[in-house]
Amino acid sequence: MNSTHSDIVIQGGGPVGLACAAWCLQKYPEAKITLLDRNPIDDADLAAADSRGIALSHGSKILLDTIDAWPSECADIHRVHVSQAGRFGRALMTREELHQDALGHIIRYRDIHLTLRKALREIQKTSPHFIWQHIQDNAPTNIDAKCIVHAEGGLFKKQDWVESGRDYGQSALVGLVEVENAAPHQAWERFTAEGPLAVLPSHYGPQILNLVWCGSPESSQRRLQLNDAEFLSSLQSEFGSRIGRFLKIQDRRLYELGLNYRKQITKDNEVWIGNAAQTLHPVGGQGLNLGLRDAYLLAEKLVEVFARPAQEHSLANIQHALESYAQSRKVDRTTTIGLTDFMARVFTSNLAPVVLARGLALSALQWLPPVKTALARQMMFGRR
Ligand SMILES: Cc1cc2nc3c(=O)[nH]c(=O)nc-3n(C[C@H](O)[C@H](O)[C@H](O)COP(=O)(O)OP(=O)(O)OC[C@H]3O[C@@H](n4cnc5c(N)ncnc54)[C@H](O)[C@@H]3O)c2cc1C
Repeated sequence: MNSTHSDIVIQGGGPVGLACAAWCLQKYPEAKITLLDRNPIDDADLAAADSRGIALSHGSKILLDTIDAWPSECADIHRVHVSQAGRFGRALMTREELHQDALGHIIRYRDIHLTLRKALREIQKTSPHFIWQHIQDNAPTNIDAKCIVHAEGGLFKKQDWVESGRDYGQSALVGLVEVENAAPHQAWERFTAEGPLAVLPSHYGPQILNLVWCGSPESSQRRLQLNDAEFLSSLQSEFGSRIGRFLKIQDRRLYELGLNYRKQITKDNEVWIGNAAQTLHPVGGQGLNLGLRDAYLLAEKLVEVFARPAQEHSLANIQHALESYAQSRKVDRTTTIGLTDFMARVFTSNLAPVVLARGLALSALQWLPPVKTALARQMMFGRR
């Protein structure tokens, strides 16, 4: 059994747990923190891990830059084209109209993870009381700490807690696809009869794109098993010919999709952040962005308490800091969860009135710049 005594224990060494530890230590290097990490010690053992492309917002880039944790291999998005397969309604969003260098950035999950590990190792050099403890999968842990931060993350249907949420009856098939004729830095989001189909840039260059194809679990499973030629032909007929022919597909993987969230994110001296607090549908690309904002704001609140003398680390003070954290996250969490849930449901429905409303909404987005800007800003920076 692993036994731990620190002021703060962070359970989970995914991107959100790592970032939270790094921000706490950067703000207060004397902090007594233990990070419980189930991942291997050696980065090389993670190099072949999860390669799914994750869209990070400009807001996340600003946050990660503060700890020098922005991955070098990344693809910027300059334009997003949104449309409905076989129906009216389309919208184009560009970085110029939003006065941004990029609308977002696509990075492999494992690169985000590895870069954060590297950044935390640097910060660790000047953090005398930080313990980074690697634990075995399923090893029981006896946590003795003044405050416990849950950052165990997880995927929908693989989490051992279910509180509130929704099963969309959807899976995402992800992979890397080679195409004939893609414009660099362009992302495509296409709403098909079964769910959103996104084709996103990758750092491999303009011909290799990240595919996220949402569909019913049965169709997705069938697509996973198709041979490459059959798969590409099925993708082509769903996506159309806007970027020429689909030439190659690699690294196909399936993820079940749903919403799982905690109504209360604190209890006594415990707090839940990132996917341990809310697991979202990837349609808006918001899960990790929201989790990083959780980690950043929690670090601020924890440091306010633990940088004070030890006699002030009372349960009442800790609870007060956690409640203040929960309060400060309310609007951003509610808006992001609500907006993502709305998109996941609306963009999956085939009911005629919904299809019509969706077409009108896309047209409104195109022709009402303030609506477009407001939506884009929410996606890029969240709500404070
Ligand atoms: C198909 C798909 C596409 C996505 N696309 C996007 C996107 O474009 N943009 C976006 O922002 N988000 C996206 N997401 C969501 C994003 O992947 C998650 O929000 C993010 O990974 C959450 O990070 P986390 O650190 O909270 O959890 P995780 O990434 O799940 O990491 C948790 C870590 O904790 C460890 N752990 C678990 N239990 C314990 C324990 N008891 N003790 C110690 N360690 C433990 C795990 O091993 C893991 O390393 C997508 C998700 C999916 C499925």
